[in-house]
Amino acid sequence: MSEPKHVKPCQKCGGLGRIQVNEDTWRRCLCSFARVWASKVGSEIAKAKSITSSPLYSLSPPVDKTKSNVFLKGWWSDILPHLKWTFIFKFNEYDLNYYFRTVTDERLLTVWLGKEAYTSKQRKKREDEESYNSLGDLVGSKQHLVLIRLGELGHPNRAMAGVIKEACMMRQANGLATWLVESPDKLFQEGNNSYSRDLFDFIAQQFETIDLTQGDVSNVVQQVGFDDKDENLERHDYRPSAKPKFNGNGKSELDLGPALGEASRAKQHGKAQRLGKKNGKGGGPV
Ligand SMILES: [Zn+2]
Repeated sequence: MSEPKHVKPCQKCGGLGRIQVNEDTWRRCLCSFARVWASKVGSEIAKAKSITSSPLYSLSPPVDKTKSNVFLKGWWSDILPHLKWTFIFKFNEYDLNYYFRTVTDERLLTVWLGKEAYTSKQRKKREDEESYNSLGDLVGSKQHLVLIRLGELGHPNRAMAGVIKEACMMRQANGLATWLVESPDKLFQEGNNSYSRDLFDFIAQQFETIDLTQGDVSNVVQQVGFDDKDENLERHDYRPSAKPKFNGNGKSELDLGPALGEASRAKQHGKAQRLGKKNGKGGGPV
């Protein structure tokens, strides 16, 4: 990853991306972590608002919902800041080798149907396409976490609910979690193209529901498209992200908020097992 020319080099590492700890030890600078992290999670998450806490992940008390099935309720725009927060910690924990995938239910169905086609007469055509051949390719054990956005299928299909369940069960069999995402305008209920009573019961038994929907004001803002920085609008639970920005030059568009420093400090005090101890001071690179 080369640094864009108009951005001043990081003040901590001078643009090296690493900092010398002692004679023969270097550690990755936060600016380098932030760049690689952003390229891996994608701009939608990287540029989401920075928040200072989330029910999905916390160091103290230790909470890590990436390890369990969650039924997330909320506008996608409300959920993104929580993904940002969570994935900073997870990518830090995994030295940037953390893998997640976001898919729609419609995509699941397409791949599932494609799998059928693959074994039938369209084999040649399938092999020419760059796509996933099976649900296992799409949501299998290579992904630490898979998010499935529900309600994106534009037409009824009787297989849909069963395919969602199959995807979740496939992950469960590998000891891996799935997050289902329900948008307030596509509620998972009778009439929804993803809904079935069987899937409803499965979710009720296997998933914990977490509602990240923000208040009405922010939803109106999202829909109408006002500038969400308008200071007259309440931000509800969101607090302004901590300053200074991660690279200290104040110019980067990428503000990872307080999670980055917190994650980094936690790491230097031991891995996930010991994260229960809050240690806010000392040893941190900031
Ligand atoms: Zn740096």
